[in-house]
Amino acid sequence: MEQQIKKLARQYASEFVAIRRHLHANPELSYVEFETSRFVQEKLTSYGIPYEIKATTGVIGLLKGKNPEKRVVALRADMDALPIIEENDVPYKSSKPGIMHACGHDVHTACLLGAAKILSELKDEWEGTIKLIFQPGEEKNPGGASLLIKEGVLENPAPESIFGMHVHSSLPSGKLSFRGGMVMASADEIYITIKAKGGHAAAPQFTADTIYIASSLVVSLQQIISRNNNPFNPSVLSITAIQGGNTTNVIPSEVKLMGTFRAMDEAWRFKAHDLIKKLSTSLVESMGAAIDIKIDVGYPFVLNNETLSAAAHKKAASYLGAEHVEETELRMGAEDFAFYSHKIPACFFRLGTGNIAKGITIGGHTPTFNIDEDAIEIGMGMMALLGATNGGLGE
Ligand SMILES: [Zn+2]
Ligand SMILES: [Zn+2]
Repeated sequence: MEQQIKKLARQYASEFVAIRRHLHANPELSYVEFETSRFVQEKLTSYGIPYEIKATTGVIGLLKGKNPEKRVVALRADMDALPIIEENDVPYKSSKPGIMHACGHDVHTACLLGAAKILSELKDEWEGTIKLIFQPGEEKNPGGASLLIKEGVLENPAPESIFGMHVHSSLPSGKLSFRGGMVMASADEIYITIKAKGGHAAAPQFTADTIYIASSLVVSLQQIISRNNNPFNPSVLSITAIQGGNTTNVIPSEVKLMGTFRAMDEAWRFKAHDLIKKLSTSLVESMGAAIDIKIDVGYPFVLNNETLSAAAHKKAASYLGAEHVEETELRMGAEDFAFYSHKIPACFFRLGTGNIAKGITIGGHTPTFNIDEDAIEIGMGMMALLGATNGGLGE
């Protein structure tokens, strides 16, 4: 079957490059992927795959192979784009000002459609049922994955495992990478407002200096990770915005701070939230100001199932050649696939889309992000193969 999938992936590659270009030219922001959703629905219908709609724009296809009760495997692609003005000069440049597929979700959607077409053609060759999850809103809290889970995407029928793929420009096109265990971080947003009376800069004794307090707080917050966290447990706290004041002789009555907290351990994550709140409150109050602190809880860390990821790595090595499959490096980026990964055995892997010779090296979330489209044949073939074999565990 590996050979049949490879042959069909090659045969259909140009069709799905064209589909990727269509999606790239017509990007939509998180949770309003209406045209994309309709496009996916039409394609699934043309492959004879029934589907249902969840979370407004999510499309959940259900494809049955031989012996459909044997097992259910889920394959997931995200569909949303970003609020970025595209600067690439390509024929398939975004037709929507200020919206761009700068994270490769156009590629993920095209590859999963490609896998759907291949799997439906080969449905007498593989066993079980495949749930095709075309997901809205990966880029924005609360995360489309969490909405789909609430609406029952992991039930009726319940998948025993789930696979997700992400393009990666620092991995060369032609390669894939896998890793078991933690692989990406949780991400929570911190919002702090420091408030005091404000006053004349020449008479600080009559007020509390919100600028000085904010500065002390930025410095003090760094001890939370360095003095409380196990040094072998990856974690980051970055204060990314300070807003307050607008002239030389006034102490402002308000300073706002923003930041992000990342971790790969749920117990430490929530302990750290507590420490951040306690330290901020006591420091700011002890210096005579009031504080309003809010931590917006985002996505958990991505936890790849060890057995499933090792099997999928092996399967990929057999499909592409061992020299083309690497181990994914740990990164503190976040991804809402994490929500699935804490519910059922999951494998989130990378599709190499960089190509130095073609000048394709720029990372995601930038106005000149692009991919080597030769990777699409590999992406769609790999998703099909993982679905048909449950990452190799089902053989
Ligand atoms: Zn992104
Ligand atoms: Zn992404």
